[in-house]
Amino acid sequence: MAEQKDLFKDIISHCKEYGFVFPSSEIYDGLSAVYDYGEFGVELKKNLREYWWRSMVQLQDNIVGIDAAIFMHPATWKASGHVDAFNDPMIDNKDSKKRYRADTLIEDYISKIEAKVQKEVDKARMRFGETFDEQQFRTTNARVIENQQKIDSINARMKQALEENDMQAMKQIIVDCDIADPISGTRNWTDVRQFNLMFATQVGSLAEESSTVYLRPETAQGIFVNFLNVQKTGRMKIPFGIAQTGKAFRNEIVARQFIFRMREFEQMEMQFFIKPGTETDWYKHWKDSRMQWHLALGFPAANYRFHDHLKLAHYAKAACDIEFNFPFGFKELEGIHSRSDFDLSQHEKFSGKKLQYFDPDLNENFVPYVIETSVGLDRLFLATIAASYHEEQVPTSVEGEEASRVVLRIPPFLAPIKVAVLPLTKKDGLPEKALEIFNLLRHQHMCQYEEKDSIGRRYRRMDAIGTPYCITIDHQTLTDNTVTIRERDSMKQDRIAVEAVEKIVADRVKWPS
Ligand code: ATP
Repeated sequence: MAEQKDLFKDIISHCKEYGFVFPSSEIYDGLSAVYDYGEFGVELKKNLREYWWRSMVQLQDNIVGIDAAIFMHPATWKASGHVDAFNDPMIDNKDSKKRYRADTLIEDYISKIEAKVQKEVDKARMRFGETFDEQQFRTTNARVIENQQKIDSINARMKQALEENDMQAMKQIIVDCDIADPISGTRNWTDVRQFNLMFATQVGSLAEESSTVYLRPETAQGIFVNFLNVQKTGRMKIPFGIAQTGKAFRNEIVARQFIFRMREFEQMEMQFFIKPGTETDWYKHWKDSRMQWHLALGFPAANYRFHDHLKLAHYAKAACDIEFNFPFGFKELEGIHSRSDFDLSQHEKFSGKKLQYFDPDLNENFVPYVIETSVGLDRLFLATIAASYHEEQVPTSVEGEEASRVVLRIPPFLAPIKVAVLPLTKKDGLPEKALEIFNLLRHQHMCQYEEKDSIGRRYRRMDAIGTPYCITIDHQTLTDNTVTIRERDSMKQDRIAVEAVEKIVADRVKWPS
């Protein structure tokens, strides 16, 4: 665990040192849970957004995109249920003065018991070797059974407390589980209270109630209110989807995990409109399809898992998360929700306008059901950096000596800089030749030209920002028009003809189809 914590710290400092993520308004000591993306961060973020857009819009026959405004009519948030029910249960520790989400405290406690169970299972697997039957072990080992019952019972109590909005019961779980504040170590807790997560502000100059608007806490509602516009202008036939990416804002209670939980963040959401009765199949379809999308990035499959929601949101029929094994454990990366006709029906009720689909085959109108996929771009960014980050020992030019390097093994098509063009020295016409190649490549890809520092240091810097290829121009280039191409992960260098550079680079950094 200590090692994991250090890894997380290392990743945060790496992000800052190499221009990926900075604390917002840092010269004023930052603003809690708000971050800025630097020169390489913005490229990676843009590429991740594009990767999503390509597969969710460009390569789909029946999904189109929109870009709705952040501000929406305030009735939107009444209709969606956010004004009344977008709450988190919070609790304060009176000694540390820290505020926590009560459900998160309980979930962390459950994770600890789960870790204990896993340890027992791993130990038994070692002992029994090939003949080990995990299912049988879990259902017969007394200690495992006892811990599993404990987990199930806490989960059941929490589910009931959240569903009944019973904050006293939430507090009682914390008391009964003897949960201590991770900072002060004490159990001196306040009561649990509900806390609305929406930011409100005023439009116009009058501070009366009708002028209160909210910063959207999710992008989804911009899609629902445009359902008919898009269906008509795009001549869309059910089933079809509407996708968008954009900023969302939540006044998060606990905001201590870097860009995992921010107060201003970006979502990539798709609402898929379907015929009522087909939701089970479509829910399964999108669950599978979204998991495949994550796995296609090529990071180990063991980093991902599904987690079914205990407490369904006010709109949901079924819901699950795709969780990623962040440096601080498995946490939600993406949500997939079967939302029934809740949103469109609510907007019909509040706006007085019909939001229905006319099915020409059935010759009837209906309010479509919706399956939503919703992934946080910042969490995807963090997952990508965390899975790519490696510290390793590598050989140096001195025989038998090793040095350490940090390398970001970002999939080439996502890398902020695809190729660096490096003249071996600053003289003898090498920079001129290098600039020729650089000026050719930059029309195709984000490239960097760099002539300062030794070649070794320049390679290390490119490794640290995840540049998959370095093209080096040396004295041989001037005689036979060849350069070396160095691959980031293997550090292997090949000599190739200058005329071949453009095609070789393009082939190696191209988007997956
Ligand atoms: P959590 O339980 O972690 O608060 P959530 O269930 O409230 O998340 P959703 O409302 O399902 O999240 O939002 C969809 C996605 O938006 C999440 O899967 C996550 O990737 C992203 N997201 C939500 N809140 C934040 C945040 N505060 N900072 C960064 N990303 C977020």
